[in-house]
Amino acid sequence: MAETQFDLVVIGGGPGGYVAAIRAAQLGLKTAVVESRGALGGTCLNVGCIPSKALLQSSEHFSHAKHKLKDHGVLVDKVGLNLDVMMKRKDAIVKKLTSGVEFLMKKNKITYLKGFGSFLDRNTVKVALNEGGEQTLQTKSTIIATGSEAIEIPIAPFDEKQVLSSTGALALEAVPDHLVVIGGGVIGLEMGSVWARLGAKVTVIEAADSILPMMDKDVIRTMKKVLGAEGMEFHEKARFTELKKSGKKLTVVADKGGETVSINCDRLLVAVGRRAFTKNLGLEKVGITPEKNGKIKTDGHYGTGVPGIYAIGDVIDGPMLAHKAEEEGVACAEMIAGKPGHVNYVAIPNVVYTWPEVAAIGINEQEAQAQGLEVNIGKFPFAPNGRAMAFGETEGFVKLIADKKTDRLLGAHIVGPMASELIAELAIAFEYSASAEDVARSVHAHPTLAEVIKEAALAVDKRSLHS
Ligand code: NAD
Repeated sequence: MAETQFDLVVIGGGPGGYVAAIRAAQLGLKTAVVESRGALGGTCLNVGCIPSKALLQSSEHFSHAKHKLKDHGVLVDKVGLNLDVMMKRKDAIVKKLTSGVEFLMKKNKITYLKGFGSFLDRNTVKVALNEGGEQTLQTKSTIIATGSEAIEIPIAPFDEKQVLSSTGALALEAVPDHLVVIGGGVIGLEMGSVWARLGAKVTVIEAADSILPMMDKDVIRTMKKVLGAEGMEFHEKARFTELKKSGKKLTVVADKGGETVSINCDRLLVAVGRRAFTKNLGLEKVGITPEKNGKIKTDGHYGTGVPGIYAIGDVIDGPMLAHKAEEEGVACAEMIAGKPGHVNYVAIPNVVYTWPEVAAIGINEQEAQAQGLEVNIGKFPFAPNGRAMAFGETEGFVKLIADKKTDRLLGAHIVGPMASELIAELAIAFEYSASAEDVARSVHAHPTLAEVIKEAALAVDKRSLHS
């Protein structure tokens, strides 16, 4: 007879949910995870962060072999593409990681139910099992960690063959001739980069003033230059108005400040953001009403207002990032177990895995201005850095923003090789409320890309050494 009494039931087995379950189990709570996908790991591991990074890495190798290896004196006669192998490699990585999470559930003695969970009442969760039938769980506490889904535009419903969400864009069987992307945000630029490197013409239509509208203006300028040089084309301040289909051909129509732009293509990726997934959870039965955008309002302790019911990750406010959800999962589980859980929201890094990569933490220069803050800014390029030269990757810079009076770091922005890894140093600096001087005085191994961070920190006080 399967267990039906739990201290904690987590609905949703993505990075927020499964991590919450592990932490709860570590703290002695009898825990169950309910997940309907058939695999743990959520969007991130199955159809998001992980498969996209696999394809980004593979397509980067392809592009390096074609364009950059000759600069190193490495001559490759003919560079070919076996997309099938590339896709199978991606699928194998996903399988390995999602099975790994399943193993972690077993190791931590967490009950994993494959099915769709919904509330019957505050202490009862019904699971419609994937294999058929139902199971009812009694629980003291529940965490809603059901994540998000791609926003669909009514004039271009997803068919995942011609009109793609990020999921379809990760599983194409052939390189498109021309891929149009609606939305120049993170997914648009990452998936656009994959297919552009593999040979597709890529055109991005962005409604806002620029691509990556939330980023620092210096970052945006560099990214437009670099991605533009790689062949990506951008239409900014352009509103997608119509999609015409004729057999295998698509025509995307956009309004760009009164001018009509018509683009013929064979694939369309719609990446205009994601929406909290809170449908069919029986929330009305427990008295939770999601907001208009589907999100669940929570208090400072992830409480939904209904005793014993909590929510974390993409279904609540804040950036839709796997690492934000994970931290919330840990904090929420700790609070349920009577411990002081905490997430430091000012120290959450944000990464775009284009090449060069973009990574940021804290506020940007425009936000500092809008908030009327007095700041000092230090900026240093990768161009004079020895390791960057050895890599053959000298594009980009590090830009640090520090409070003028206290020198405390308020923002850090990196465009450059391995920015995703470099930002970890600054995340720790933020966690410790470091000043620019603290970073400037820290010894950085030579030669490393991280020396550019040290030089940018020195530049805050106008004393960088290698400029
Ligand atoms: P996003 O919010 O990053 O970008 C969406 C873009 O679409 C915005 O620039 C917006 O101005 C534009 N847009 C919206 N409506 C439009 C329209 N009708 N026409 C043209 N442009 C329009 O969203 P996303 O790229 O879809 O990603 C979804 C979520 O997933 C984000 O929250 C993102 O943080 C997360 N994500 C993160 C990573 C990462 O951390 N590397 C990778 C992929 C996705």
